[in-house]
Amino acid sequence: MKSWITPFPVALPVQRDNLRLFDTATQQKQRVCVENNHATMYVCGITPYDATHLGHANTYVTFDLLYRYWIAAGYRVTYTQNVTDVDDPLFERANELGIDYQELSQDQTDLFRSDMQHLNVLAPSHYLGVTETVDWVRTLVRQMVDLGVTYTVPGDEHNPDGDIYFSIDAAHERTSWRLGTVGAHTQDEMVEYFPERGGDPDRPGKRNPLDPLVWSARRDGEPYWHDDVLGAGRPGWHVECSAIAYNTLPTPFTVQGGGSDLRFPHHEFSAAHATAVTHKPMAQLYVHSGMVGLDGVKMSKSLGNLELVSNLVARGESPMAIRALLLDNHYRSDWSYTDEALAEATKRLSSWREAVAFEQRGDAETLTTEIFAALSDDLNAPAALHAVDRWAKKRLDEAQPRDKALPSINAVVVLDALLGIKLY
Ligand SMILES: [Zn+2]
Repeated sequence: MKSWITPFPVALPVQRDNLRLFDTATQQKQRVCVENNHATMYVCGITPYDATHLGHANTYVTFDLLYRYWIAAGYRVTYTQNVTDVDDPLFERANELGIDYQELSQDQTDLFRSDMQHLNVLAPSHYLGVTETVDWVRTLVRQMVDLGVTYTVPGDEHNPDGDIYFSIDAAHERTSWRLGTVGAHTQDEMVEYFPERGGDPDRPGKRNPLDPLVWSARRDGEPYWHDDVLGAGRPGWHVECSAIAYNTLPTPFTVQGGGSDLRFPHHEFSAAHATAVTHKPMAQLYVHSGMVGLDGVKMSKSLGNLELVSNLVARGESPMAIRALLLDNHYRSDWSYTDEALAEATKRLSSWREAVAFEQRGDAETLTTEIFAALSDDLNAPAALHAVDRWAKKRLDEAQPRDKALPSINAVVVLDALLGIKLY
């Protein structure tokens, strides 16, 4: 898929190898080990049926921060993001609108790219849709069939013959993955979340209600691909990410990322499928961003209370102020958007912009050290922004004219490289 274009940030003189991130699987902050100088990340992308709201923006800005951190530290970074361009909500929305699902997917993916560009989110190294990677998925599902960790469910009045499910019980016997070890939810929580997040616990013929679909047999009005072993059909949701990660990143890769609503079932089963065929963990760490609400209520399509990035930009809000607002909330916290908070972020951004006129030699070094130290502690962006505030206040208070002989790496460059905040 077409990626979006943003200038690449610069490597900075920083103390690296100190990064710690909160790992969902172990429920602890863990030191991040980057092997062979190559940091690798997979972040689950959008299902392109509706525009980017602040909750999505929060997730992609979070992992953009990590991406920039690694680049600034001088690592080689490979970052993969997918687009779930074959999925039930997409077909349902396209049907409602009376358009082809691919047209809807194209339009919404374009809007997402434009939102990301506004927010100065760097494009990933690989940006892939399911429609482009079905062969990878077919290969992976066939491998799971060979391993005996899948079973086929017979059709009934609502479903055709041939849906293939992943068997949790068989995987427990034949692989090193155990249910609950990735998403770190209790059994009760998993039972609660499964139907809310695309699962079908009541489908007749399933061996375990939580078993996920890996290959959906051909249905009328839905796209499908031929496969001699699996039959005509299309990929399940979780296996799509296992296959794209497996084909673009090492095993295990460094960080699996996404919103906290992906802990279960999505990341749990993506990891289960990957582990079944590789006999290794899918990722070193599983990192999840919090949920964003609107005026105290969780933002969701069903409630119709989505604050869209494109709407905020269209009404004249500064994309960099939106980014500053997102960064001012620690990525793991659940928080709520308000217009007042955006107005505060806008004022804050102006003070930083004013301070540039008074920058002195040494400022860039101090900012680099302080921002990098804050980000090293589980991407503490709010603390990083406080470091910028301290710098801006000092310079605005002293009001000495800008040093005319500043090095090429100045405060503007540092804020863009590490925080993705463009002052110009
Ligand atoms: Zn995914």
